[in-house]
Amino acid sequence: MSRSLTVLSRGILGLALAGAALTAVPAAAQTPAQIQAAVDAAYAKYKDNNDGAVADYIPALAKVDPKVFGIAVVTADGKVYTAGDLKTEVWIQSISKVFTMALVMNQQNPDAILTTIGADATGMRFNSIVSVEWSYKGLGGSKLESAAEMNPLVNPGAITATSMVQGKSRADISRNISSFYNAAAGRQLTVLKDVYDSEAATNQRNQAIGMLMYAYGYIKDNPLQAVDIYTEQCSIGVNARDLATMAAMLAFGGVNPVTKKQVMKTADVPEVLAVMATAGLYDDAGKWLFRTGLPAKSGVGGGIIAVSPGKFGIAVISPPVDAAGNSVRAQLAIADISNALGGNPYAQFGPAAK
Ligand code: GLN
Repeated sequence: MSRSLTVLSRGILGLALAGAALTAVPAAAQTPAQIQAAVDAAYAKYKDNNDGAVADYIPALAKVDPKVFGIAVVTADGKVYTAGDLKTEVWIQSISKVFTMALVMNQQNPDAILTTIGADATGMRFNSIVSVEWSYKGLGGSKLESAAEMNPLVNPGAITATSMVQGKSRADISRNISSFYNAAAGRQLTVLKDVYDSEAATNQRNQAIGMLMYAYGYIKDNPLQAVDIYTEQCSIGVNARDLATMAAMLAFGGVNPVTKKQVMKTADVPEVLAVMATAGLYDDAGKWLFRTGLPAKSGVGGGIIAVSPGKFGIAVISPPVDAAGNSVRAQLAIADISNALGGNPYAQFGPAAK
C-alpha cells in the first residue's frame, strides 16, 4: 500500500511541476516535426521510469513484460506519430468499456446508457461492490428508483453495458463487439486466449457483480453470459497504434481518420467523452482531469487512451500501474505530449486572453 502511494504521489508531483511550467502558455507544437519531437521527448524522459507494478490479480497479467513502452499519436489527417514499442500487444482490458458503451449508444438510443446505468463517478475502485450497494435506491423490489453513482466505465456498469449489446446469439453479440472495435482500430483485432482463459477461471468477483446487477434489475437476463462476453472483450490484444487510432476515432466525431470510415454516430461522441472525463481513470479521474483536461480511459493491461477533441487521439502502453490501476508512464507521457500539443480542451481562452 505505502509503495503504491509513494508511486502515486511521485506521479502527481511530476505532473504538477509540468503544469506549473506551463503557466505562460507556450505556442502549441503543430508541425509534423514538432509533434514527433514532443513524442520523442516524452519517450526519452520516461523510458527508464520503473515506478508502479504490473497488475497481478489476473494470473496471466502478472507475466507481462514491465519494460514494454510504446507511444502513438494520431492527428486529423490520419498521420501516426510513434515512439518505442509498436509491435507488442497488451490486453485492452478496461479501455474496452468505452467502445462497448459507444456500441450500445450506436445500436440503441443515446440515452440508453444514461437511463439504464447512469453517468456519475462512483469515487470507488473499478470493481467495487460497495458502489453497487451505495447506488441502489430501489429497496422496494427490482424496480430502480435511481441509479445514483454508477457509470459504464466501472465493472458493474460495464458488465451491464455488455449485457445491452444486441445480437441474435452469444456468438453474434461477441461478433458485433469485435467488429465495432475493429472498425475503431482500423484492423482486425484478436482475443488473446491466455488472458481470457486466465481471467475466466478467476473472475468470480465479476460474476458476483453481474449477479448483483441482475438482482437489482440493471441486467435484464443472462448475467453470467454478460460477464463472460465482458471478460472476452477485455482480452482483446492491442498495440499503441491500435489504441491511438481508436482514441482518434473519438477525437474526430466518430470517423476513424486513418481509414476515413464513420464508425459511430457523431452526435454520440461528446457524451462518450463526458463519461471518460468523469470516470475514465477510476477514482483518480478527477486528478487526471485537473492536470490534463483530457477525456481518457485506462486498463489494467497498461494502456491509456486520451482524446483531445478535434486535435488528436493518443495512446501509451506501459504495464506497470499505480494504486488506482492506471499506468504510471502512460499518465506521465500523455500529460507531457498533450501539454506540448496544446491538447487541454479547457485551455482554450478565446481572443480576450493574453
Ligand atoms: N477485466 C478486468 C476486470 O474486470 C478489467 C479491469 C481494468 O482494466 N481496470 O477486472
